[in-house]
Amino acid sequence: MDIPRIYNVTESAHRIHNPFTPEKLATLGAALRLDPGTRVLDLGSGSGEMLCTWARDYGISGTGIDMSRLFTEQAKLRAEELGVADRIDFIHGDAAGYVAEAKVGVAACVGATWIGGGVVGTIELLARSLCTGGIILIGEPFWLQLPPTEDVARGCRAGSISDFLMLPELLALFGELNYDVVEMVLADQDSWDRYEAAKWLTMRRWLAANPDDDFAKEVRAELDVAPQRHAAYTREYLGWGVFALMAR
Ligand code: SAH
Repeated sequence: MDIPRIYNVTESAHRIHNPFTPEKLATLGAALRLDPGTRVLDLGSGSGEMLCTWARDYGISGTGIDMSRLFTEQAKLRAEELGVADRIDFIHGDAAGYVAEAKVGVAACVGATWIGGGVVGTIELLARSLCTGGIILIGEPFWLQLPPTEDVARGCRAGSISDFLMLPELLALFGELNYDVVEMVLADQDSWDRYEAAKWLTMRRWLAANPDDDFAKEVRAELDVAPQRHAAYTREYLGWGVFALMAR
């Protein structure tokens, strides 16, 4: 079981697989005013940077589940490196339908809401692991400006314009689901660049190291178009943020 290989190549050097910088991740952790010992569940935990740094900085414990073998391996190494491996577990597997045995204070899905079939289904899934009064974290894109055409939406790698909402509508959706939005930290163009532009150097180095790999053509094709596509579309049209929710 694994994710499509292109991500394991292009994001192999990323610690954060989202348009968030380490500073924004720390800001979010501080904003949540986490009590030491808080248990955190993270579905689609990637390379584990959120759980590992929050364990180091805010004393949380937790579990992450991710379908990428590589990212999960990197997450375990990061937990060792930061000296938090006794408090943070990483499981390689499909997080769809995953419910924690013991209820958690924070249940998160940051940039992987397809795991629950979209935002609504993911909130329902996370709620099943959450203790009363706990916080759900959802990391999700939204439109900064509405794409004028479906081609622009596809340039942002959305399936269509209807895949995402504008920020006020996304916040309204959380309300309609009977959740208060109690915090949010948003990406900006610089943090988008850290996510997207970091892939370009990774791809360039991967191509130099693997010229004869069957996959080289695909990676080359992606590197050829990625910078312009990012500048024309994602950087201009797509927002992203992590939203903290508490049930009303
Ligand atoms: N939350 C992490 C990773 C976000 S990227 C971070 O912010 O860094 C999306 C992640 O979802 C990837 O790590 C990918 O491997 C993982 N993923 C995709 N489908 C999954 C599934 N069905 N179950 C668990 N993880 C999944």
